[in-house]
Amino acid sequence: MDFEEAGTLVLPAAHGKAICLRAGWRVRVVNPHGTQALDFWAFNAADPSEFLSMDNVRSFNSVAYVEKETALVTTQRRPIVCMTEDTSAGQHDTLLCACNPAIYRELGVKGYHRSCSDNLHEALGEIGWKVPFTPAPLNMFMSVDVRPDGSLDRILPRSKPGAHVELRAEFDAVLVFSNCPQDVTTINGPDRTPRDCVLKILPPADAP
Ligand SMILES: [Zn+2]
Repeated sequence: MDFEEAGTLVLPAAHGKAICLRAGWRVRVVNPHGTQALDFWAFNAADPSEFLSMDNVRSFNSVAYVEKETALVTTQRRPIVCMTEDTSAGQHDTLLCACNPAIYRELGVKGYHRSCSDNLHEALGEIGWKVPFTPAPLNMFMSVDVRPDGSLDRILPRSKPGAHVELRAEFDAVLVFSNCPQDVTTINGPDRTPRDCVLKILPPADAP
């Protein structure tokens, strides 16, 4: 497995990318427009059956959404990444599934439409991985409120242009990001336009 060197990658609108990070390395996820939702997954680089688990995150922290101090734990209940910075509006969603081909069919789309679920598997394929399931994603820059009656309120994106989240790998990990291709609903903003994001790979904070 090739681990990332320091540098900057543009994540094109509606596409995904897998990066391999050594323990202590960081990735700063920059949202140039502030409106783009990013689905995020993390896997143990040595064992893909251990991965960042939204149900374990909710159970471990007793929360419904993720903020900077939330422990981002795996199926083995150990932190895989730490959110070391967050200048977004916060309250990153853990409740909704990754968009997938069935959702776009449900929305009336004819023919193929890119999806976060397909982006995950396409990105993993680019590093030679095949994972036979789609874990629930952490939906960064996307907020969903639980109303008192238990229903969900999908909130319009509310981060400022240039907002960022920084994640540090707690052990060697494969991180996957998908710029959500949703252009039917308003989850990526009222103009329904998927946009690019930027990934800045940074060495450990205490590196010389
Ligand atoms: Zn999506």
